Amino acid sequence: MMNVTDTNNTETRSAKVAGVFAGGFFGIAAAGCTFWAGVLLTLTGIGALLGIPMIVISFVLPFVGALGGLGTITGACPHCSTAIHASRFSPGTDCPGCKRRVLIREKRFVAID
Ligand SMILES: [Zn+2]
Repeated sequence: MMNVTDTNNTETRSAKVAGVFAGGFFGIAAAGCTFWAGVLLTLTGIGALLGIPMIVISFVLPFVGALGGLGTITGACPHCSTAIHASRFSPGTDCPGCKRRVLIREKRFVAID
């Protein structure tokens, strides 16, 4: 008996710690851009309508990034075995190695074709 599902999908494991650091770092980088864009807009006067909310959001972004990182999983691409990092909350991802679509199903990476 051939079990087809064993050949076209790979196991993943949680990458919480790495994900939180990566997410937090990305959040801080995004926050820096948002903060300064907000400050510049606020300096224009009328731009403050948009600038002040942007400054407020910039303080929250690092936490949002870190929380998003909690759902990071890592595993091998079912096509080419390249290591893939993805969010378990997303339906799928593109492999950075072979650029093919990989679905995320029940914490496994599944090849479509
Ligand atoms: Zn691949």
